[in-house]
Formats: sequence, C-alpha cells, structure tokens
Amino acid sequence: MSSVSKYQLKIVPLKANNNLLMKRITLLILMLTLCYACKESKSENSSTKDSETELKGETPEFAIVIHGGAGTILKKNMTPEKEAAYNAVLEEAIRTGYDILKNGGTSLDAVTKTINVMEDSPLFNAGKGSVFTNAETNELDASIMDGQTLNAGASAGTTTVRNPIDLARAVMDNSPHVMLSGKGAETFAQEHGLDLVAPDYFYTENRFNSLKRAKDQEKIELDHDDQQASFYDPEIKNFKYGTVGCAALDKNGNLAAGTSTGGMTNKRWGRIGDAPIIGSGTYANNETCAVSSTGWGEYFIRAQVAHDISAMIEYKGVSLAEAAYEVIHNKMGKLGGTGGIVAVDKNGEMVFEFNTEGMYRASMNDQGDIKVEIYEKQ
Ligand code: ASP
Repeated sequence: MSSVSKYQLKIVPLKANNNLLMKRITLLILMLTLCYACKESKSENSSTKDSETELKGETPEFAIVIHGGAGTILKKNMTPEKEAAYNAVLEEAIRTGYDILKNGGTSLDAVTKTINVMEDSPLFNAGKGSVFTNAETNELDASIMDGQTLNAGASAGTTTVRNPIDLARAVMDNSPHVMLSGKGAETFAQEHGLDLVAPDYFYTENRFNSLKRAKDQEKIELDHDDQQASFYDPEIKNFKYGTVGCAALDKNGNLAAGTSTGGMTNKRWGRIGDAPIIGSGTYANNETCAVSSTGWGEYFIRAQVAHDISAMIEYKGVSLAEAAYEVIHNKMGKLGGTGGIVAVDKNGEMVFEFNTEGMYRASMNDQGDIKVEIYEKQ
C-alpha cells in the first residue's frame, strides 16, 4: 500500500501537482499570517505590560527629603550669597543621600550620610554650627529610626561627639538601649570609635553672638518682670531654628528618619528638646511613613508630632499630606508651637509642612528631580 501511494505520488500529472503545490503555499502563507498575528498580539500584550510597568514606575522606587530648620526666614533678610550658600549645602546633602539610594543603599545609610553633610556645615544648628547653652557650652541631640524593625537610637546632651547622628545610629545598632545621654553617651561613642572633638570645635562667632543677644533680651524681660524670660534666642525664634533632618525610602521599601540639633540658644539645666525623642523629633514605620521635625521642641514633644502623623495614617487611613497638615497646623500649632516637618510615606509621597514663614528644605525623587527651597512661597 505504501509503495503504491509512493508511486501514485510520483505519477501525479503536472497540473494536479501544481494545484497541490499552490494549496500548500496558500496553507503556508495562512500559517505564517496566523503566526505573525499571534506575535503581534503577544507584543501588544507585552507593551501593555510595559506600560503597566511604566505606570508602576510612577510609584517612586525611592525618595529622599531633608530640612535644615524652620522659622521666620524672609527673603528680605537674606543676602544672595547667604541664600546661595544654604542652597549649596542643602543640595550637596540631598545628593549624597540620593546617590546612596540610587545605588541600592539603605534608607538608614542615606539618612545618616545626608545628615553628616549638614552637621559638618557651620550654617545649620547641628554638629559644627550648634547653638550655645546659657552656660556657653554646646550640647547636642540626635536620633534615628529604622522603619523596618522599629528599632531606634538617640543621644542627648553630648559635647564632644562630632556627628551626633552617628552616635544615635551606633546606639541603635550596637546597644540594647534607645537613648544615651551626656558623659555616658560620650564614653559609648569613644568605645565605638566615633569621631570625638574638643568642645571648642563647635564654637562659631555667629552662634555666640546669638547667645549674647538672647541673654540681653532675657535681662530686658526680667527687668520688666516678664515671667516669660526667653530661654530661646529671639533671633532663633524670629529668624530660624536650624536643626537638620532627613527622611528616606529605599529600593527595598524600607523607610528611615533622623534628626540632629544643637537645640535652642540659651537653653539651660540640661534641657533636652524633641530632636532625640522618638515620636516627637523622629519617627519611621514601614507601614506608614518616616518623619523628621524642626521647631520649638517643647511643643513637638507635647504634641508627639512625628508619631502622631504616622498614627493618623495607621489608624485613620488618611494621606501623609492630610496627616501632616492636621498635626502641624491644628494639633501642635494650636498649642502655640512653631516649626515644621519633612516626611516620606511608604509609596514615596514626600511632604513638607510648616507653620513658619520658611523652612530650609529639599527633596529628590528616583528620577533625580531635585527641589531646593527656603521660603514659604518660592
Ligand atoms: N527642635 C529643636 C529643639 O527644640 C530646635 C530646632 O528645631 O531648631 O531642640
């Protein structure tokens, strides 16, 4: 049978053979067309996927936001040189953190290194540029929080640790405690190889003059039997605070925040502000947001500003922007406090919120778009 059919095939007349060939070619063309159509629809699907990915890409992979203090910062009081100097350090600081995040580094590292840049500048009230206490010393506070583990570290009232944010980080990473203070914190810093400096490293003429002005003002207030003797510098109150802080989201979805400060001019009796207090000056939680505060610390402590913003998102499901507005303007503001926060939420949404006339601030998204601002209305 098989040999017959073989033979038959061979003897098919030429015309019939041509027909068969035509049929086969048609079939082949049909199949090719089908294949092509299939491929097209597949690539259409994949381009839908690509655009979905692109859409997803709109949710930033990472984000970073910083502040260098809030207060009555008016353009009319600022020289172009001074403004340029502030902008330059803010930009250098935020780019430092941005590079870490872009290269896949952690938000904790980004926060620490970004704050280091501002701590090393005399322009900000943190590290090198810290304000003076009533006793003409510099007592520095800082804190940091990891949103993934809710672990935290803080240091208060140190006089010889060059970068208090490093100390806060070391307390978090290498001790069973959250907050260390004074001499004990300095011993811990020494044991962990942190950079120590002589207390006069923190001397700057500008800050010393602020202390003198605060003391003069205090005398005037006392002479007038005004019980509200200014423990804070009128310059600081009326011009700016200057604490530094940072909040960041990394590529792994981990949030972190940190804050570092010299506190408030003319402070005394070992006064500690909000900056080293977890929940007031700093808070981070991967489920909600990361926040760093600046302003009149006593009010930020009483209003639990940083944690309250996170709690509003956690318990009420409101947006970061709504939570920040409510806490700064309604809760803390109504107590009489002044200042602001920077924050980023788990989706990479960044917020600046303040009730003062300005706040040194900057933000960068994963596309490298940078914003550096000082005044309320830029
Ligand atoms: N919050 C800081 C403090 O009260 C001051 C500041 O933000 O500049 O110590």
